[in-house]
Amino acid sequence: MEARWPLDHAGRLLRHIPYLSRIRRPERWFPGTALATIVGAVSVAGIALVADEQPVRVGAYGNIEAHPQINRSALDLFDSEKDAHEYLHRASLSGEPTWGVAWDASDGIQPILQNVAVKKKKTARQWIIDGGFSADEPEGPQALRHFYDPTDGTTPWLTDIVVSTVVRNPEISLLDWVGDKDDPSLAQDYSWPDAKEYFRSALADATPANELYGKAWRGVGETVHAIGDLALPAHVRNDGHAKELGDPDPVEVSTTANMIESQASGEWAPLNYDQDVLKLMHDLAAWTNANFLSKDTVPLSGKPASANGKSAYASPTWAD
Ligand SMILES: [Zn+2]
Ligand SMILES: [Zn+2]
Repeated sequence: MEARWPLDHAGRLLRHIPYLSRIRRPERWFPGTALATIVGAVSVAGIALVADEQPVRVGAYGNIEAHPQINRSALDLFDSEKDAHEYLHRASLSGEPTWGVAWDASDGIQPILQNVAVKKKKTARQWIIDGGFSADEPEGPQALRHFYDPTDGTTPWLTDIVVSTVVRNPEISLLDWVGDKDDPSLAQDYSWPDAKEYFRSALADATPANELYGKAWRGVGETVHAIGDLALPAHVRNDGHAKELGDPDPVEVSTTANMIESQASGEWAPLNYDQDVLKLMHDLAAWTNANFLSKDTVPLSGKPASANGKSAYASPTWAD
């Protein structure tokens, strides 16, 4: 029975989520407060876009349930706080639907390199929620780009994978990907700079049927997805976790939309939210990396290595 750890272990911790803001020790083991952080960070990202421009299925939290709910909760927070904002109190993300290019859950998931692009008309809110799904498509290639190790300035991308003639490591970290780093094998059309550029162009385009607004909001939604990934210990501790290879991440596979919703009003991580989105992403990754363990990076007591045989991270330690 003991052999069922860590799934069992994660299950026990999950029951503590509502209390994480009050109990210090479990807080260091499970990224409950991280969920509230993401929601806060995402809301900041949304504000930044509007305010600035006013004028291997291994995809992080599941992209069917968890990621879209993170985006939805972020939008709810944005809605509840915008009334107090100097410029945003008249803004609405649920207004007239706009055209854009979609890849929704209803358009199907793709494990391998393939592109799905369906012209659709949706509200800004729906475009952003659905960006939580599309960011992980196509799943295999995207999974290799959704990691960032904030402690490794040389190879911050995922290296904990089995590279073969079929699987090529693109050597692109999640921060590079969101920052619009080009990749010859997979186009990045919904980076954070892309989103801002689409929005700028949309404002200058008088054609009602232009797809630029939808593309801008999808870019915001995909950026929010990336912020969510950085609150997952495995994604910031170089811990590859291909479900197909029998190595799923217990936090990822057990996090439901309901859990995220119940955490959305929780305590925020102590980060500077009033800064550039990419810098905020680095800070969030550093905080997650230093405060939480992932399944394969548990430090072996008294040794400089962790469960996966690699060098242990400096933090957290057993002494913590
Ligand atoms: Zn993952
Ligand atoms: Zn992801």
